[in-house]
Amino acid sequence: MLTPAEPRPYVGRFAPTPSGPLHLGSLATALASWMEARVHRGRWLVRIEDLDPPREEPGAADQILRTLEAYGLTWDGSVRYQSQHHADYQAALNQLIQQGRAYPCRCSRKQLAAAAAYPGFCRHLKKVPKPPYAWRFRVTEAEVRWTDGLQGVKQVALESLGDPVILRKDGYWAYQLAVVTDDLDQGVTHVVRGIDLMDSTPWQLDLAHCLANQVSIPFQYTHLPVIVNSQGQKLSKQNKATPLCHERPSEVLYRVLRALGQTPDPQWIELHPEALLTLAQQHWSIAPLRGEQTIDLASL
Ligand code: GLU
Repeated sequence: MLTPAEPRPYVGRFAPTPSGPLHLGSLATALASWMEARVHRGRWLVRIEDLDPPREEPGAADQILRTLEAYGLTWDGSVRYQSQHHADYQAALNQLIQQGRAYPCRCSRKQLAAAAAYPGFCRHLKKVPKPPYAWRFRVTEAEVRWTDGLQGVKQVALESLGDPVILRKDGYWAYQLAVVTDDLDQGVTHVVRGIDLMDSTPWQLDLAHCLANQVSIPFQYTHLPVIVNSQGQKLSKQNKATPLCHERPSEVLYRVLRALGQTPDPQWIELHPEALLTLAQQHWSIAPLRGEQTIDLASL
């Protein structure tokens, strides 16, 4: 594993869960992460996070890819599907077990209902319980600190978050383990994503340190403001965000660029999305988003 002393070429990624089509909120995230990768002359990868079939919608993965294409957000290399990498997650779990950093947990939802963070009931089980059980990652006692690309210096005591599940009782791999395994395997250097995922970052950094056997920080995290509706809720399938259509993509890109604090020229609306994005790259700056946590949908 390389250390930050040997700068690695920029590799960014967009990692949608195929639970529904893209909407303005997910387009804004994709666009900002694409822009950052392109202005740093980096690679931009797309990874479909299809590890939770009950949450997925048939056809959504393809629909997401077609929408990215329609909006000119081209990716490098082939798309990675998490559902094809179970063996990698198993290897990561085995490594954590060997490192003494994973343990089986038989706690029920009911037992944990009142706890904000996992209280560690199963941390000291003497033997492996009868199935079904989950696997949890034992967090370090140390504080995790990182300098976020937009949200400043962050410092979190991992013990206050508790030990996350990495393999669920129902047999599905949990997001935390899969995302870190993939970001390491794919050589990702820059994670640009919505601020709603920032609470997971301390766990992911701790996991990355274990899995990569290093203490230095392997990724630069940048947490973007998320687009919220008039009730202050993040746009999502649950609150019925309108799916993006493929008509007039340049007009939508123009509006999303404005929402991301850019000053696109209204004449760009007449351009093909790829031409618009080439011009937008020349003017792109992430600075207007510094410290911002939300973008009002009404401003779009
Ligand atoms: N799959 C996650 C989502 O769609 C994003 C994971 C990430 O960017 O780390 O919310």
